[in-house]
Amino acid sequence: MEHFASAREMTLSERPDEPVYCFRPKVLEADARHFMSEFPGKTAYAVKTNGEPFVLEALSRIGISCFDVASPAEFAAVRAVSPKAELLYMHPVKAQSDIRLALEHYRIRVMAVDHEDEVAKILRIVRALDIDPATITLFVRLQTKGHAAYELSKKFGAAPAHAVELLQRIDGIGFRCGLCFHVGSQIEEPDTYERALGSAAWVRSRAGVELVGLDVGGGFPAVYGQDPRRKVVKMPSLDEIMAQLRHDIDDWGFSDLPLVAEPGRVVVAHSISLVVRVLLKKGRRLYINDGIWASLSDSWTGKITLPARLIPDPARKRRTGKDETIVPFKVCGATCDSVDILSRPFWLPETVETGDWIEIGHIGAYSLSLRTRFNGFYPNRVVEVDTSFDEETGLLGLASLETMSD
Ligand SMILES: *Cc1c(COP(=O)(O)O)cnc(C)c1O
Repeated sequence: MEHFASAREMTLSERPDEPVYCFRPKVLEADARHFMSEFPGKTAYAVKTNGEPFVLEALSRIGISCFDVASPAEFAAVRAVSPKAELLYMHPVKAQSDIRLALEHYRIRVMAVDHEDEVAKILRIVRALDIDPATITLFVRLQTKGHAAYELSKKFGAAPAHAVELLQRIDGIGFRCGLCFHVGSQIEEPDTYERALGSAAWVRSRAGVELVGLDVGGGFPAVYGQDPRRKVVKMPSLDEIMAQLRHDIDDWGFSDLPLVAEPGRVVVAHSISLVVRVLLKKGRRLYINDGIWASLSDSWTGKITLPARLIPDPARKRRTGKDETIVPFKVCGATCDSVDILSRPFWLPETVETGDWIEIGHIGAYSLSLRTRFNGFYPNRVVEVDTSFDEETGLLGLASLETMSD
């Protein structure tokens, strides 16, 4: 991978016309290590957040050897960089052929379920392959409530009483039992985990079966920016959330169980920024070479404000206005449709001009993984840089990524 001291240096020497991802392996390593030191159990990185080989390699280099996966492509991506990695197949609704591939070829022995028909599907394949059910752990996925930027609880999960039945059924067959939940991505209420743990404790006591693990999923929030015009929703720091989580795990009587967490966003968000170019400035509108169909699709959540920094083109000598005056610009993406307009503005110096670059920070999560080839645009250039986004110099504005419908 090409290497530069900073994103600014890359921009000024390359003058890129296509979007460029600036990857900071040191930031990724530090954030992953930080999470592992705060969580009192096993850290299984959620591959869907960013499954690029360079991310998986960096994580396995620092000792992450367990991954939350959901599809054959994700099994293969992990094993390609880490042949001995443990895979947790935590998708509650799986194709039969994928279950077979997981059990037979990838030797996956941990899966999630939230319905008895899924248990039956797995059992049929386990019998056909002559595998002892006692070597397999099925985690029952519990429904949870709470607010997150991405709601996931509505799609998957068994209600508590149903989870009790499922655990008893799984135990009766001879599988090993676990309980898991996933509260959604980027939680917005600090007590979200507490509520889920309370529900898990109720299910555990009712079911009366032996549990071999509790998986608290992902959802741990990354720190982004703050739109100056919006109400500040103050979230506790990761350290505070983790201290609370450890306390709640104790309180709800789970400290005797092996624990797993599946962080994605909080591990990878800060490790990548994106340098985009202003293709055209039309009054207070900026047309850029990326958008919601590519790296900025996390904007669908309408909840995330990314930090942004202007990198002015030194070749442009004449500008109007003052660098110190930060104003909102409407941002139009690269594709030829009007969905690709971010309804929330980018706050930038009024001097921004056609040909300038904008470095958008903290886009490592759900950006590269959600790119489409719509209209023929597919940003795919990655370089490595040393400085963290926050260490780089320059005028700081905010890219507030929310879509028209918000
Ligand atoms: C997406 C997902 C995660 C990762 O969530 P983050 O909010 O990115 O940490 C973890 N577990 C499951 C089951 C998921 O679907």
